[in-house]
Amino acid sequence: MSLTLYLNRRAWLSHMEETEKRFPGFIPVIKGNGYGFGNRYLADEVLQAGKEDIAVGTVDEARQLEKTHSFREMIVLTPLLTELNVADLVPGRVYTVGSREQLRHLAASFERLLSDDRRAWTQTGAPFRLNILIKCRSAMKRYGFDLQEAGKVLDWIREVESDRVRIEVKGLSIHFPKTGMDFAAKEREIGNWLEAARKVGLPAGRMYVSHLTPDQFQNLTRQWPEVEFSMRLGTDLWLSDKSFIETKSTVLDVKEVKRGERFGYKQLRSYRNGWLVCVAGGTANGVGLESPASARGLKERLKLTVFWIFHLFNLHLSPFTYKGKRLWFAEPPHMQTSVLFFPSGSPVPEVGEELPVQLRMTTATFDRLVTDPEVEELSGREEQEEKGKALNAIP
Ligand SMILES: *Cc1c(COP(=O)(O)O)cnc(C)c1O
Repeated sequence: MSLTLYLNRRAWLSHMEETEKRFPGFIPVIKGNGYGFGNRYLADEVLQAGKEDIAVGTVDEARQLEKTHSFREMIVLTPLLTELNVADLVPGRVYTVGSREQLRHLAASFERLLSDDRRAWTQTGAPFRLNILIKCRSAMKRYGFDLQEAGKVLDWIREVESDRVRIEVKGLSIHFPKTGMDFAAKEREIGNWLEAARKVGLPAGRMYVSHLTPDQFQNLTRQWPEVEFSMRLGTDLWLSDKSFIETKSTVLDVKEVKRGERFGYKQLRSYRNGWLVCVAGGTANGVGLESPASARGLKERLKLTVFWIFHLFNLHLSPFTYKGKRLWFAEPPHMQTSVLFFPSGSPVPEVGEELPVQLRMTTATFDRLVTDPEVEELSGREEQEEKGKALNAIP
């Protein structure tokens, strides 16, 4: 009785295997809401698939996953400007640094942590090895050293190093836009950075990249055989094929409502006879959350205008469907329930039925994840109606 994510796990895992062939040594990105699956679930799966290195979004996500999973390397993608704590004195983390301020902050933070002589780490006498990636600014203009700064980065690193903190540059990192930048331009930026790094002595034996096609990736590895390229993959790994997943919501209650009768949180009046259908999933699950889309072209703009006019009359189209038709919200979604309006005369679902729901996977949180049963685990006695096996309740 919940908002459920059904996953064809076998197909999904074989996509991960194919990805390894297309992008050898790729780095799975596990961050945010875990692309709808949850970070813990994704971490379980990549460990089982034999991956040793992952990238997470924030230092908090690194702390969370380190409690339950053990990876060789965890790249923290977002630059850090908050304080660190004792739990952060761990090897294996790699911080992304894209400015002198970020570098200073990170080193100073570790310095403060290590200046406390009671720390177990300090007692070993060995300096703490702080692993970083040099973030190269791309056309994205989101974080990253300017190409003109490349010559100064090593000096800035030496400036913040001490007896307690040693900095190791694990490589370069660049993040490209998804669209609007052709491969020649991406190649040029990579080439400029590799050249600049070589000239000034920055370690550039490894470079982390993103948003490239397999052909483009191969092209890079041929062009710079001395550089080990690693592809970071999030959406294209977890959500590349929509046919692997189904998202559904259980009908929890159905109540008749007469025209003019009041109902719900807002005690609005029903504008016609019909049915109120309560389904699982509300704001806490990301229902009703839309991220601002950039409209392109007349058709998209007209569509937005029509919806805006509907909104003026408190009519909101919901992401739930029944028999192929999009349904209307009766009122704004609650925390874990949404109330839909079915006008009388239309087919109405029964309690316990499941309605398909379309959610944005990067903002959705599901109550349950149900994966196809593994063939080996099928004992034959399992009930046929049972669609799958609840492997993991996503917190
Ligand atoms: C999130 C992120 C990725 C993965 O992005 P997707 O669009 O989800 O594939 C790659 N690189 C960086 C730096 C990121 O922050």
